[in-house]
Amino acid sequence: MKVNKAEIIISAVSQKQYPMDGMPEIALAGRSNVGKSSFINKLLNRKNLARTSSKPGKTQTLNFYTINDLFYFVDVPGYGYAKVSKKEREKWGKMMEEYFSLRETLKVTVLITDIRHKPTEDDVMMYNFLKHYDIPVLVIATKLDKIPKNKKGAHLTRVINTLDMDSNDTIIPFSSETGEGKEAVWHFIDQIVKK
Ligand code: GDP
Repeated sequence: MKVNKAEIIISAVSQKQYPMDGMPEIALAGRSNVGKSSFINKLLNRKNLARTSSKPGKTQTLNFYTINDLFYFVDVPGYGYAKVSKKEREKWGKMMEEYFSLRETLKVTVLITDIRHKPTEDDVMMYNFLKHYDIPVLVIATKLDKIPKNKKGAHLTRVINTLDMDSNDTIIPFSSETGEGKEAVWHFIDQIVKK
């Protein structure tokens, strides 16, 4: 897909603010610093899509981007940032629950993981949380350029096993540095958006 338009529509904190036009939606989740911004920018061919609120310590919001007026990317605030207060964490949890339990137009959630490392407890929790709501998950194992080619299989297996991935879910190795995996991701998105 050639992306001609990628614009933020709203930074929402509650359901009242979600767009209601019924366009299909793809959420993007991942722990802070995992490489989510780089993933989005690579996918959209943008140098820097404005993602100010994603910074730890800033207001946590669900950021809705319209892509070619065809679907939404919903950027979910990062998790696993140690310095977040308990109160903020609770607020985050409530916002996530409201979104993932109610959003009917949500087709799939992209969960960004780091292919170099075993998924963290937070990653596993996020995956289980999504499965609890029966949400299909596309796991992205990013930073592929940082591991030797002959280790790719073993690293992917570790991600799949640690998350205990559902056999219906898909995993795609990716690199924001080289663009490897980009076509596979767009192919996946095309199938979803066309449905
Ligand atoms: P975010 O906090 O999840 O949005 O993470 P960023 O996209 O800001 O990435 C965190 C750091 O990892 C930055 O220094 C990026 O340049 C680096 N990074 C992200 N993706 C890749 C990748 O695929 N390959 C390499 N080599 N570095 C990456």
